[in-house]
Amino acid sequence: MNAVRGQLPLEGMPRRLYSCTPSRLNTWLDCRRRYRFTYLDRPQPAKGPAWAHNSVGASVHNALAGWWREPYERRTPLTASILVTNGWITEGFRDAEQSARWLGRARDLVSGYVATLDPADDPVGVERTVATRTKVIALSGRIDRLDRRGDELVVVDYKTGRRPLSQDDARSSLALAVYAIAASTMMRTPCHTVELHHLPTGEILEWRHTDESLARHLARAEEMAMEASEADERYRAAVAAPERGQSAERAPAAVPGEIDELFAPSPGPICSWCDFRRHCPQGQAAGPERQPWDALSD
Ligand code: SF4
Repeated sequence: MNAVRGQLPLEGMPRRLYSCTPSRLNTWLDCRRRYRFTYLDRPQPAKGPAWAHNSVGASVHNALAGWWREPYERRTPLTASILVTNGWITEGFRDAEQSARWLGRARDLVSGYVATLDPADDPVGVERTVATRTKVIALSGRIDRLDRRGDELVVVDYKTGRRPLSQDDARSSLALAVYAIAASTMMRTPCHTVELHHLPTGEILEWRHTDESLARHLARAEEMAMEASEADERYRAAVAAPERGQSAERAPAAVPGEIDELFAPSPGPICSWCDFRRHCPQGQAAGPERQPWDALSD
């Protein structure tokens, strides 16, 4: 990072660029305690067991990325199906029978989806890392797929969850908007359209941003980044690095009361799915404990 470019006078003090992903900002927005556990406490507190729905999602994403890396003549539904099988992640399922059943579904999902694609229409990028920066923030992230349509780029994000999506999900996604800005900057090509491709329903939810709506998302990202950056600094000033030997416990860091308050919990429905629920009494009180396979439809 260029130290001079990374400074912005704020209240008379120079401030470093806050480097983050959209996921970090969304975690800050959702629950500050979870943000602290995820990004600040080191060693990171122990997480709960892996979720089966994450295994399905990662397996599908990996297969779709791998499909585009195959030579043109192998970009068939059968290849997609083989890629899912070869890369199947088995963590989090109730048993081998459930895992095998979901492998079959994932194969159908991915082979059905690629049958709708033109294998000759190579994307500009697959699992492409993009980055952009402003005076206060350096944002980066990975795009599932970046297409070229005419003179413009289109950000494509694959979704595999049960929940039906709406156009509003595409419109309001900070990540997609940031990716559009970053892709446009890096490739020197306009990028205003973002799309969610929901594999279970085959639906494509598209939103076409304006320059203004993209700028609003970026301004919101900067706002959150400034809050989070200030909280990070207060955390670092107040919390000593753990001594050797403590890391085996994988418990949350011991923090002063004021830091605990700064990174307050936000109990709600998300707590049932939070990886750090075991360390959070408020989260445990907010909703029932879930089995790792509970987000699957059976
Ligand atoms: S369990 Fe809920 S309140 Fe606790 S850290 Fe996780 S999301 Fe936050």
